[in-house]
Amino acid sequence: MSSHQIVPSDFCKAGEILEGSLPVSGLERLASACADTTGEVVWKVVGSLDIHQRPRLLLSVSGDLCLVCQRCLDVMPFRLDTETAVIVTFSEPEADEVESALDDDDRTEVVVSDGKVDVMDLIEDEALLALPLSARHDVCPDKEAGRWKEKKASPFAVLGQLKRGNGNKK
Ligand SMILES: [Zn+2]
Repeated sequence: MSSHQIVPSDFCKAGEILEGSLPVSGLERLASACADTTGEVVWKVVGSLDIHQRPRLLLSVSGDLCLVCQRCLDVMPFRLDTETAVIVTFSEPEADEVESALDDDDRTEVVVSDGKVDVMDLIEDEALLALPLSARHDVCPDKEAGRWKEKKASPFAVLGQLKRGNGNKK
C-alpha cells in the first residue's frame, strides 16, 4: 500500500487535495469490522486553513461495505458516506483548547501532530467512526423472506378466485 504522508501545515497552507480509492482489504482495522473485505473505499482529503489560520483537513470517505448484523449474524450491506473536518494542532494543550472552543460540534475533530500525518490513518479512523455501533438489519433476512412469501402468495390466490368467478358467470 502506498503511503500518503503529509505535513498538515504545508498541505493546508497550499490548499492541496489528495484523493484516491483502495480496497477494504487494504485497511486492516476497517476490514476486521466487516463481514468480508470485498468492496472499495473512495476517499478525499482537502487542505485549508480555518478562520484562526489553523490547518484544517476536510475528509470524505464513501463506499459499500458488508457488516455483520448483531441480531441474526448474517451479512448486512452498509453504505459508508461520511465527511468530517479535522483540525491539526501541535500539542495536547492546544488540542484541548481547540476542542473546548468547538463545543459540541461533532462534525469537527481535533488531532495532535507535530510532524507528518498518514492520510490513510485519518481515512480509516473516519470510516470506523462512521460505522454503526451495533449493526442491525431493519428487518432480518429470514423474517423478511417469510413476509415476502405471504405477500406473493395472496395475489395468486385472489387471481385464482377471480378466474373461477368469471368462469361461473359465463
Ligand atoms: Zn439481521
